[in-house]
Amino acid sequence: DISPKKKLRIAVIPGDGIGQEVMPEGVACMKAACKRFNIDIEFDESFNDWATCDRYLKEGSMLPDNWKSVLSQYDAIYFGAVGDPEKVPDHISLWGSLIQFRREFDQYISLRPCRLLPGIECPLANKKIGDIDFWVVRENTEGEYSSVGGKMFPGTDREFVIQDTIMTRTGVDRVLKYAFELAQSRPKKHLTSATKSNGISISMPYWDERVKAMAEGYGDVKVDKFHIDILCAFFVLRPEMFDVVVGSNLFGDILSDLGPACTGSIGVAPSGNINPTGLFPSLFEPVHGSAPDIAGKGIANPIGMIWAGQMMLEHFGCKDAADKVMQAIEEALGKGGPEVITRDLGGKGDCKGLGKHILELIETL
Ligand code: ATP
Ligand code: MG
Repeated sequence: DISPKKKLRIAVIPGDGIGQEVMPEGVACMKAACKRFNIDIEFDESFNDWATCDRYLKEGSMLPDNWKSVLSQYDAIYFGAVGDPEKVPDHISLWGSLIQFRREFDQYISLRPCRLLPGIECPLANKKIGDIDFWVVRENTEGEYSSVGGKMFPGTDREFVIQDTIMTRTGVDRVLKYAFELAQSRPKKHLTSATKSNGISISMPYWDERVKAMAEGYGDVKVDKFHIDILCAFFVLRPEMFDVVVGSNLFGDILSDLGPACTGSIGVAPSGNINPTGLFPSLFEPVHGSAPDIAGKGIANPIGMIWAGQMMLEHFGCKDAADKVMQAIEEALGKGGPEVITRDLGGKGDCKGLGKHILELIETL
């Protein structure tokens, strides 16, 4: 049962590279917000070497064998970044940590905000704050990424490959239910479904069919659907029209990079890997990776990490605290000035300085 009424326990896993630098800023900001709004929460920071490539080189694995039983006892995982490709190939570091969490904890929703923020240049012309503000909900466990198929007659003229898309009724319905409820909770109550039933003739019509069936239970939600090609065009041409957008694993993957890119915020954007049942912990992380090119320099932008924490607070229903963190991020971006803003956004500030600035805003705004 996820409820802010009971004490929340968060496993803090900074991981590799700039994960180690942005995480302390994220945790400090979360603690400040929770203190201000009397949220009973504990951040367990004893997982410092989990999901690190250094651990892999020393112990031969990214995580200890009992990781699942240990992390199952937490309400959420606050995750930095993983990967150090000079030392360990990405498929080992990623598959040995983050992908394990997603799979074993059945985090079947991937959730990303697409929102214009002050101080960040929007690559689309003539957009003002408020024009772009929507969520992308991606199915995170099956669909086009199911790894079912094979190759026959390799190396010959008869060579062929097959890869299947798996859509289960349970899998499709649970992501749609989440998306409908998210839409229902928002003022516009508008859900857009990504499809391609004119080209993909079995699985996508099935997706459409389940959207239609689910819509009957949400009479107050306005529903529309677009083929993925024109939907991508509309993300760029008419982003104002969206509120909640739901897609299969592949379409959701595309849209959840395109959406934040349209707001210019891909470098500061957060992401939730969510198991809404609460049976297992959900995971909140910045979209960016471990950034080996700038790791150790103290210049990483901590906003992706802090915004990920903000999503975590929202997930737990701690709305006041979440709103305050968002307000602090926006204030820092809009009015912090070049001394505070980090280099990736054109300023001269550093990770600690920007983190501290946002923390003080959380305490005082
Ligand atoms: P992933 O590990 O998710 O596949 P990646 O390895 O492709 O991601 P990142 O690690 O996100 O990419 O880095 C991409 C570029 O963005 C790098 O040049 C990096 O320095 C920069 N970058 C990433 N995150 C930040 C940040 N928080 N602050 C400043 N620059 C960043
Ligand atoms: Mg990487």
